[in-house]
Amino acid sequence: MSVSNSDRRSTATQDSQPRGVDVLHDPLLNRGTVFTEEERDRLGLRGLLPPVVSTVDAQVARMREILGRCPTALDKFLTLDSIQSSNETLFYKLLVDYIDEYMPVVYTPTVGEVCQKFSHLFRYARGAFVSAQDKGRVKDIIDNIPNEEVDVIVVTDGQRILGLGDLGLNGMGIPCGKLSLYTACAGINPAKTLPVTIDVGTNNEEYLNDPLYMGLRQKRLTGEAYDELVEEFITEARRRWPNVLIQFEDFGNHNAFELLKKYQEKILCFNDDIQGTASVALAGIFSALRVTKVPLEEQRFLFLGAGEAATGMANLIVDALVDNGMTREEALKHCALYDSKGLVCASRMDSLTDVKKPFAHDLPHATTFLDAVRAYKPTGIIGAASQPGAFDAAVLKEMAQLNERPIIFALSNPTSRAECTAEAAYRETEGRALYASGSPFEPVNWEGRTFVPRQGNNCYVFPGLGLGAVFAGARWMPSHMFLVAARELAAMVTEEDLNNGSLYPSLSRVREASQRIGAKVAEYAWEKDLATKERPDDIVKAVGEFMYMPR
Ligand code: NAD
Repeated sequence: MSVSNSDRRSTATQDSQPRGVDVLHDPLLNRGTVFTEEERDRLGLRGLLPPVVSTVDAQVARMREILGRCPTALDKFLTLDSIQSSNETLFYKLLVDYIDEYMPVVYTPTVGEVCQKFSHLFRYARGAFVSAQDKGRVKDIIDNIPNEEVDVIVVTDGQRILGLGDLGLNGMGIPCGKLSLYTACAGINPAKTLPVTIDVGTNNEEYLNDPLYMGLRQKRLTGEAYDELVEEFITEARRRWPNVLIQFEDFGNHNAFELLKKYQEKILCFNDDIQGTASVALAGIFSALRVTKVPLEEQRFLFLGAGEAATGMANLIVDALVDNGMTREEALKHCALYDSKGLVCASRMDSLTDVKKPFAHDLPHATTFLDAVRAYKPTGIIGAASQPGAFDAAVLKEMAQLNERPIIFALSNPTSRAECTAEAAYRETEGRALYASGSPFEPVNWEGRTFVPRQGNNCYVFPGLGLGAVFAGARWMPSHMFLVAARELAAMVTEEDLNNGSLYPSLSRVREASQRIGAKVAEYAWEKDLATKERPDDIVKAVGEFMYMPR
């Protein structure tokens, strides 16, 4: 049996038996007009609601009418946000049943605007705020959290929000949005999720001068003081919830790599920007290779960007090649990076960070991306540098000249940061591009053919990864888990999807994707002796039953 609404606050209801308005004011318990006659009597709700017992379908229809009247995506977000703050079951019912329609509202691209304006839109506090001023007393914050159990924490310090840069405390929109996706896409019980922002200040002058900005008015904490605050938070969170999965989200480049290096093998955690992105991109590559029928061993990928996303993807491609039998030294040659100083190459070795060094090949130092394409002759280009338009007509034409079916992934978010639009990719390659994007694009008509480009959306992967890890009680998450997830997601792409130019399954199948990925990840945890929970006979079925359904 899936977890249902009434199971969720079982501890709270047994102890304190909320009644009347307390029920209506608790978003986890409130179901509004669908409370039955019997429930209304038992919970002291008679007369506090309109007399006619509504169906969930009628509730959904009413909300969709309201949402339909919202003129902009931001207005829709605010409406959904107030539904979530009053009746989570209804919010998740809307999100699950209309995932294609509302995911871009609760997450990218709308969440970018939500974060930018967070301090001006703020109405309800959700989750936990840990600030630099709380050093030494983070325990009190953790003890104040009402959730008895927490399965998943998504935490940010707001330094690199999407492709929008340092948004400080305003970045809180991201952990909130990601956890909504954990519940909608993978059935993580919403009562067991916790969004967290660690506010260490911001270097964003606009916010520091904004009278409504709600974060600390100081420059970012760095060095030891920063590390100690994060460590204190992690220690306290794990003291209270020892099996919690901590997902690092939208940290700045330096801290993201350092935190992953420090904690990856010690605790149950991962970084979605580095590892989740890698997994979803590799799944798209596997799909593209089913079209080209050219194996991974014969591919060469050039990344625009050499940050969290790009190096994460490059490293997972290398892992996949090694897993196929190639030596690591040889596999590294199949990926090259281009950063803000041009092509990452051997002549720059002395000034490169450790993550970039393995990808510095013996190539001339190109200082335009077009020259880098000409030098490296990639079969695929993957954009993750927030440089809109960087895949211009010349670059796309060059890729079309080099390859029968060029792989073009424009992954930067939000839409305004995409390296090229879907339309440009198909137009400049005469309809031959195998295209995926970071933000959604509408289908494209090109010379009588309709292409349905799909988003290389991390939500295909991270919720299922988290679900599997939580379900098995994994102690930590080795990088091979991300390869397992990529293979499972790619296996869901149908021939019909490929014929339409889609490298990912339809978003409407995202819960199925999470269940399948969750089961594979959990199975891997048991195989490698990483699991702390008992293994069920039928893992897929048991994972399905573990998933929360809004009803
Ligand atoms: P990051 O800050 O770690 O890396 C950015 C990289 O871009 C750096 O290596 C930097 O040197 C490079 N860069 C900056 N200016 C450049 C220029 N003019 N030319 C070439 N390179 C330049 O950020 P990140 O986490 O890697 O994210 C990058 C982008 O990828 C963001 O827009 C993010 O939203 C997007 N992203 C998309 C997905 C997805 O679609 N699934 C997932 C993760 C990240």
